[in-house]
Amino acid sequence: MTAATTSAARAFRGAQTQGRSEDELKELVRHAGADLELAPAEVIIEWAVATFGERFCITSSMADAVLSHLASTVAPGIDVVFLDTGYHFAETVGTRDAVEATLPVNLISITPKQTVEEQDAEYGKDLFARDPDLCCALRKVAPLSDALQKYEAWATGLRRAETHNRVIAPVIGWDEKKRKVKVSPLARWSDAEVERYIAENGVLVNPLQYDGYPSIGCWPCTRRVAPGEDPRSGRWAGTGKTECGIHQ
Ligand code: SF4
Repeated sequence: MTAATTSAARAFRGAQTQGRSEDELKELVRHAGADLELAPAEVIIEWAVATFGERFCITSSMADAVLSHLASTVAPGIDVVFLDTGYHFAETVGTRDAVEATLPVNLISITPKQTVEEQDAEYGKDLFARDPDLCCALRKVAPLSDALQKYEAWATGLRRAETHNRVIAPVIGWDEKKRKVKVSPLARWSDAEVERYIAENGVLVNPLQYDGYPSIGCWPCTRRVAPGEDPRSGRWAGTGKTECGIHQ
């Protein structure tokens, strides 16, 4: 653990930051965004932890535990938010349970307002097949937005290498929809860097990644992809939809 990491961990445990105004948060983004654009992921997380204390969380889709591992090294006990849509593969739920059991994090599983059965009753069965945008809005976008209310900043595992839509993901940005600071410590990481970090640190990986699912979402909207195919092409295949709305 670096000296900066130690001080970030101390800040995380001790700081109870007062709520900042949106203008103050945007000012932070302006300054830190330029300063940290080329910084290592660990330093970016250290900055976020030292700046926001307990008003900072990370989110994980449980495709792997890279960001959870990194953040728990910087700030043991950090909040890791997982969006439990009710449609996850068993392997994804198992990865979440393994992360909770093996990493020093505070795992928070959040759920939509309605169960799948309640949603079926109101909107009809298999809404994902008829209106995936509405299904994602109900089961992903709204619950995450609610869960983030108590934070000033959130981190995602978004990487520019993943899809063309993510090329411009800033390391430190302003999320206009959620009105929060959005931190993407892994934005500049290549696939090879992710693989190296996993190998060197024995990081948990969702077993589906080794079974043809390089990008993992809800089971009704995720299919296997062939070697060489765009890793994201297995998500909402054939619908024209490419993102769930969380990052738009
Ligand atoms: S990914 Fe599919 S099942 Fe999951 S919330 Fe979106 S539309 Fe619904």
